[in-house]
Amino acid sequence: MRDTMLTDMNIVKKILYYLNPFNRLGKKQYTIVFPFLLTLLSAFILEFYVIEIVKNPQLVRVPAVIIFLGLIIYFSFHDGLRGGMTATCVTILYYIYLLATRYSTTEKFVVDIETVVALGLLYIILTAVVGGLKQRTDVLIEREANEKKWLQTILQQMPIGVIVTDKNGKVTHTNKQLEQIMGNRIPVGSILGKHKALMPETYNIHVPHPPLAQVLKAGKSIIKQEYLIQRKDGKKRYIQLSASPIFGKNNQIVAASATIIDITQQKELEKRKDDFVNIASHELKTPITSMKLYLGSLENSLKTYKDTKAKKTLRNISHQTDRLQELVSDLLDVSRLQTGKLKFLKENFRLDTLIENTIESLQGTTKHQKIIFSKKQAITIYADKFRIEQVITNLITNAVKYSPPNTDILITLQKEKTKAIVDIKDLGIGIIKEQQKRIFDRLYQVSEPKEKTFPGLGIGLFICKQIIKRHKGTIWVESEKGKGSTFSFSLPLSVKN
Ligand code: ADP
Repeated sequence: MRDTMLTDMNIVKKILYYLNPFNRLGKKQYTIVFPFLLTLLSAFILEFYVIEIVKNPQLVRVPAVIIFLGLIIYFSFHDGLRGGMTATCVTILYYIYLLATRYSTTEKFVVDIETVVALGLLYIILTAVVGGLKQRTDVLIEREANEKKWLQTILQQMPIGVIVTDKNGKVTHTNKQLEQIMGNRIPVGSILGKHKALMPETYNIHVPHPPLAQVLKAGKSIIKQEYLIQRKDGKKRYIQLSASPIFGKNNQIVAASATIIDITQQKELEKRKDDFVNIASHELKTPITSMKLYLGSLENSLKTYKDTKAKKTLRNISHQTDRLQELVSDLLDVSRLQTGKLKFLKENFRLDTLIENTIESLQGTTKHQKIIFSKKQAITIYADKFRIEQVITNLITNAVKYSPPNTDILITLQKEKTKAIVDIKDLGIGIIKEQQKRIFDRLYQVSEPKEKTFPGLGIGLFICKQIIKRHKGTIWVESEKGKGSTFSFSLPLSVKN
């Protein structure tokens, strides 16, 4: 008994579901049988009603218009153009039947024909509009559903974690890779449709405002930011996160997306590489220092010796040993900078005097280029003198190295509000725009196949940038290929100025 009732309920539910035209949106199901049968049935019922129950066949007019108008609209929406047209055709045939069976006078017959033609035209237009709109809506809904499916498939195939939110931070898309990277911290199923992308505990990142919250609030992108996260299984992972707002037509934020990459392995490799450089440069330092000492005593013993060729060879060995010492010392600096172990001993000193002294000692190393210090003024800064000298030496040495003989190197020092600005200008080979930003990266050297290659490790400018950055200054370059470069840096002035 209960079972029969349940089945009856199910059948009623199914019928109601079938009758509701909104349930068919996007499904592209267009039938003609249902509209044909139901319109025909309505005509029979109406006929039966006016003839057998009301017993006045003339009363059919108004209900015939209202009922069939409703049916045509309903079927156009339920079954598209096909369904609407079927209902319209049956209705017009029924109207013709009414014309033939219910006219009284010839004049009335003519008026009725006009009415039927007008109504027929109206129904056809109505069907075209409603049915056309219904079919267009179906196409759009289907397209949107397909796009969602494509997007979902692409997201799942991507090797990186993705999280997309709406403008309020509710997660709309994500993928399995995100769960793999973050561990159980972000189970995909549990964050979809929720506002968890805005909570720091979702990521276990020790920041008050998680990246997606920042992006939605400020409307600015976050590019390749690195975080150390702790997964729920206790494992620590390094992740690299980029996030950006998505703008709608009116330039308003409509959503935000973030991509997450697991860079733990890369970080471990980098650390091993840094450790190796650190150990190797420490190990190399000791024998080089001994070599320098032995070379010094050998030079002393050869002072009275007449063999000039031997003396020249010894000088060359000594020069190359100096170069080796510089390289090892640069490598050590890089390693200390990476591990944060480079300490600065700050003092107040005159920057103009330091530049003058550095030029004096460097001018001796190049006969073909003149290093000119113009526009000098007395400026005191509070910084590590040795490290700032290292920066100036590096920039001047590069200017000499990357310029042809008989060109001048021009150095200027100026005061600008609270900053001292040093420019080192050469007329050398220059650097193309795309490479200007990257030359301050570690181990970056401009490689041009057609040009002669210059010796170097590509760490000098990296060290300069780190030193200047740690002094709260900035370093930059302006350059044009083939015309020369101007390397500049700024440092905060000392209060003693
Ligand atoms: P390197 O030891 O190779 O000189 P740097 O870090 O000092 O390393 O410089 C990085 C790269 O920047 C160089 O390989 C060179 O291509 C370019 N560069 C640096 N200074 C200049 C300059 N004054 N003119 C042209 N190119 C330069």
